[in-house]
Amino acid sequence: MTPFLVILCAPSGAGKTTIAQRLVRTRKDVGFSISATTRAPRRGERNGKAYYFISREKFEQLKQRNELLECAQYAGEWYGTLKSEVKRLEDLGRHVLLDIEVQGAAQIRAQYPPPASVSIFVLPPSPRALIQRLQRRESESADSLVRRLERAVSELREAPAFDYIVVNDKLATAVGTVGKIIDAEKRRTERTDDLKEQLEALSQALEDEAAALKARRTKAKPLQKV
Ligand code: 5GP
Repeated sequence: MTPFLVILCAPSGAGKTTIAQRLVRTRKDVGFSISATTRAPRRGERNGKAYYFISREKFEQLKQRNELLECAQYAGEWYGTLKSEVKRLEDLGRHVLLDIEVQGAAQIRAQYPPPASVSIFVLPPSPRALIQRLQRRESESADSLVRRLERAVSELREAPAFDYIVVNDKLATAVGTVGKIIDAEKRRTERTDDLKEQLEALSQALEDEAAALKARRTKAKPLQKV
């Protein structure tokens, strides 16, 4: 099956990164696209795992060299999807999971319209849940928190453009729902590469069987009374 892109979008703090991490941990058919960013690593974030943490100069170079599939600014920092990363995962035959913000999602959807991509928007269960999650990130300054909340409001406006909406009420349920969406997408008729051949072979076998049955029935003559 030709791999497709799974765009996972949500306001920062809705829990989509945790959903993405769980998904790639539990599914062999999905790989996580590691983005490049100019923001500083948070505590516990390692280079080449959550992100490739790079300088603004290096990010500019990537843009100039056309090495990014999409990019956007978020809370004063740059984020971008590396073409090489998407290709690496596609070559492994995995569906590519993109944990990105809405501008990037729009750029990807334009280049990979469905069924080449499927877009999922994750909602927090409540405003409080989102605010608390952001506050728990000790690295967030008050300024950055305000910017992320303002950004969340504008991102929510884009949610209707997505193919699916998932409320992250309970993490395990949300992960399960996103998994089911991926499974359903895999079964789209457009994705069944050899569908025509499969249907032809099935029809031919059924036609042959029907013809054989008919022939046997006409051969078997009724018994004559003596
Ligand atoms: P954070 O700084 O909280 O890790 O990410 C901030 C926002 O940037 C999140 O909404 C995240 O999904 C998004 N983001 C992460 N990587 C990319 C990327 O490669 N491209 C775009 N457009 N957004 C990204």
